[in-house]
Amino acid sequence: MNKMTVKDLKDLKGKRVLVRCDFNVPMKDGVITDENRIIGALPTIKYLMEQGAKITLCSHMGKPHSIFSDEVKLNKKDKKKVDAGETTAEAIIEKAKKDEPKKLTLAPVAKRLNELLGNKVAFATDVVGADAQAKVAACKEGECVLLENLRFHWEEEKKDLEFCKKLASYCDVYVNDAFGTAHRSHASTAAIVEYGLVNTAACGFLIEKELSVMADSLERPVHPFVAILGGAKVADKLNVISNLLEKCDTLIIGGGMAYTFIKAQGGSIGTSLVDDEKIDYCKEMIAKAKAAGKELLLPVDTVVAKSFPDPIDAPIDVTTVASCEIPADSMGLDIGEQTRKLFADKVKSAKTVIWNGPMGVFENPVLAKGTIAVAQALADAQGATTIVGGGDSAAACAQLGFADKITHISTGGGASLELFEGKVLPGIACLNEKN
Ligand code: AMP
Repeated sequence: MNKMTVKDLKDLKGKRVLVRCDFNVPMKDGVITDENRIIGALPTIKYLMEQGAKITLCSHMGKPHSIFSDEVKLNKKDKKKVDAGETTAEAIIEKAKKDEPKKLTLAPVAKRLNELLGNKVAFATDVVGADAQAKVAACKEGECVLLENLRFHWEEEKKDLEFCKKLASYCDVYVNDAFGTAHRSHASTAAIVEYGLVNTAACGFLIEKELSVMADSLERPVHPFVAILGGAKVADKLNVISNLLEKCDTLIIGGGMAYTFIKAQGGSIGTSLVDDEKIDYCKEMIAKAKAAGKELLLPVDTVVAKSFPDPIDAPIDVTTVASCEIPADSMGLDIGEQTRKLFADKVKSAKTVIWNGPMGVFENPVLAKGTIAVAQALADAQGATTIVGGGDSAAACAQLGFADKITHISTGGGASLELFEGKVLPGIACLNEKN
C-alpha cells in the first residue's frame, strides 16, 4: 500500500486532527455487545494522543433518520409506507426524533472510550452544532472529542458540500481509520478529501493493517490458496466469485449460495434458496473454473428440513441428504457432515485461506455445525495465513473463542468483500500517496 499513514504525519503537536472511525458497534439495550471495532481504533487514537494532537473523532451508528437536519429525508422503506397511506412523513420523523437519540447515540461509545483512554474524551451531543463547535475549540493537546452520530444528518451519506466544509473546519489534518465504512463514499469517509477541503489525508493503523493483510494476501498469496464463500445470495457476490476464481486454487461455495450452483449442474434442490436468474452465471463460473484448472467445490451432502425455522432459532427436525437429491418438499439449511470434512481437509492443506459468509442458517444452533466446522478448520490451520472477512463469519469466530488462532479477522464485512472483488475502496483511494 502506498498511502500515507499516521506515522508519516509530522509535527502533530497542537495540530487538530479529524479521525473518521467505525464505531458502528452492535448494541443491546444501550450496552455494547461486541467492542472489536472500538479496540481496533485504539492504536491510532493513542498514537495521536501521545503526539499531542487535538483529536476530533467521528463515526456513524446504524441507519438513523436525519433528525438533526432542517430538511427531512425519508428512506425507501419509509417512502413505501407513506405512499401506501400507512403513515405520514411527519409521524415517522416524530417517532425517529423521540427514539433514535436514545437508540443510535454514540454516547455509550464515548463512555467506553473514556474507560479505555483515561477520561480524555469529551462527548459532543451534536455534529456541526454549537456543542460540537465549542467542544472542538476547547479540546486540549492529547485529548479527544467524539461527535454524535454523523448519520443524524442526511448530508453525511449525500456528501453535502456545506456539511463537508463544517467537518473540515474542525481539522488541519484528516485521518481515515474506518475500515468498515471505507467502501462507502460519504462526506466523512471520502468527500471531505475529494472536495479539496483538507490538504493532508492519511490512513490510520487499522486501515493500514486491514489492507496489508488482505490486499497482500490477494495479490501475492502463498499457494495453495483456498477461498471459502457462503451466505444467502449469489447475486450479492457475483464479482467476488469471478475475481476469486482468478486468484485462488480452490473456491469453496457453501451456504444458501450453493443451491443455485447445484441447480445449474442439474441437481434437484427442493425448496432451497435459489436465484433462477443467476443459473447461467453459475454455469459460466463452473466453466471458468474448469478452463483455468481451478477447483470449484460445492457441498456433497446437505442438512435439510421441511421449512425455514420460525423464529430463526426455533427447534427444528432435520435430516441429511445428497446435495443434488434434495426432496421436493425439503430445503437445504446447512452443509452435511461429509461436506464439513471435505471443506476442512481442503483448509488443512492450504497456505492461504480467506473466508466470508456462513455455511448455513447459523443463527439456529442445529444449523450452525457447518459454520462452526469451517471456523474450527481455520483456527486449526496453523502455518497458514487465515483471513476472515468480517460480518457473520467474524462474529462466529469471536463467539467460538477462535479470534487469536486466526491471522486476521476483518472489522469490515462489506469493505473486505469489495477488496475480494478487486475494487479500490473510495475511503482509501482519496488519501494522499506516500512522499
Ligand atoms: P449474507 O448476508 O449474504 O452473508 O448471508 C448471511 C445469511 O445467510 C445468514 O443470515 C444465514 O442465515 C443465511 N443462510 C446461510 N445459509 C442459508 C441457507 N442454506 N438457506 C437460507 N439462508 C441461509
